[in-house]
Amino acid sequence: MIRKTRLFTPGPTPLLPAAQFAMAAADIHHRTAEFRALYLRVLEQLKTFVGTKNDVLLLASSGTGAMEASISNLTSPGDRVLVLSAGKFGERWTAIAKAFGCAVDVVSVPYGQTFLLEEVRKALKIETRAVLMQATESSTGVRHDVEGVAKLLKKQESSALLIVDAITGLGTTHLDVDGWGVDVIIGGSQKAVMIPPGLAYLSLSDQAWEATEVAQNPRYYFDLRKERKNAQKGESSYTPAVALIAALGAALDFIAAQGGGDLAAGRKALVENAETCAAMTRAAVEALGLKLFAPVFPAAAATAVYAPEGVDSGVIVKELKNRFAAVVTNGQGEMKGQIFRIAHIGLFDYMDTIAIIGALEQVAASALKLPGFAFGKALAAAQKVYAERTGAKKEAAEEALAAR
Ligand SMILES: *Cc1c(COP(=O)(O)O)cnc(C)c1O
Repeated sequence: MIRKTRLFTPGPTPLLPAAQFAMAAADIHHRTAEFRALYLRVLEQLKTFVGTKNDVLLLASSGTGAMEASISNLTSPGDRVLVLSAGKFGERWTAIAKAFGCAVDVVSVPYGQTFLLEEVRKALKIETRAVLMQATESSTGVRHDVEGVAKLLKKQESSALLIVDAITGLGTTHLDVDGWGVDVIIGGSQKAVMIPPGLAYLSLSDQAWEATEVAQNPRYYFDLRKERKNAQKGESSYTPAVALIAALGAALDFIAAQGGGDLAAGRKALVENAETCAAMTRAAVEALGLKLFAPVFPAAAATAVYAPEGVDSGVIVKELKNRFAAVVTNGQGEMKGQIFRIAHIGLFDYMDTIAIIGALEQVAASALKLPGFAFGKALAAAQKVYAERTGAKKEAAEEALAAR
């Protein structure tokens, strides 16, 4: 049979066709009124997408560039920071903070789990300058409690800045950035916003901007104060990734359309979409007899699944690729060979989700010896979740609400 390549990877994610067209048409110079209008419009849309009143900055880099920028612009050598680490991206925070001379404390929990707030409280010191965490840890498929950590910092009257890598959290998880008091929030282009890799975006609270005034770490390309000054005029400090910015505008228009033209409502719809795809997938793999890697606090960004005993997860990844051109990811680092991950970030719909579950049933039938296996069990479980979350009952409830 014909095979259509489909990405089920937690970044890069599938591209929005309208964004690809916008990229192809973006033959404009960046020091022109035309670009300035585009840039200012996209930065304004991003504020709504992130859900903050603060300026959002765009950087021409992958997501890690914005992680590095938040350390280099907000800390000084010797500053104490606390990393909440539960996977490969948590470990990246530790590596970046160390590279900039910070004294790093770490609360770490095994892969597949999340931290207890009590452990965070115990690790917090008076001199802790920043708490670094992920909203969702893409390497394990776990959701972390950003709200809980934010509230804890308030309760402890900590002056530590809360810096959140929400690179796969934005667009898959409800985040009340300003309401909770998140000081820095970071996103990346190749995740929920459905465009290629190459852009990072972040916003800083007033307290975080104050920290940029005293921070001593070196910075040049990622000088956020300079970038903000330029952004307010519709300029970027250096040559911006013009085509990606045009693509981002088209993608944010698409997301707004999911909310009837209201971008905040569209973001909410996007989060619900990811949650439904994730819930369908979890129900399906459990119905197959496979075990979830992160059963307790699963992220809607991606679902991580254990390969059955004695099977290398690479076999499942390869079978899905070779037979169905479906690209799922293996585990990273020590998790390689143990788990595979199916993403739900951005442009995934009901059809994609049903398709990957159907393909997984085929792989299970031929390559996995699962007790009690039968075609249709996983699909039935997913269908049921879909119907419950979006079906007639919910519509009736909504109608009844609207009629009040
Ligand atoms: C993708 C991702 C990043 C950034 O990775 P880049 O390759 O630098 O874009 C950081 N954190 C999380 C949680 C991610 O999923």
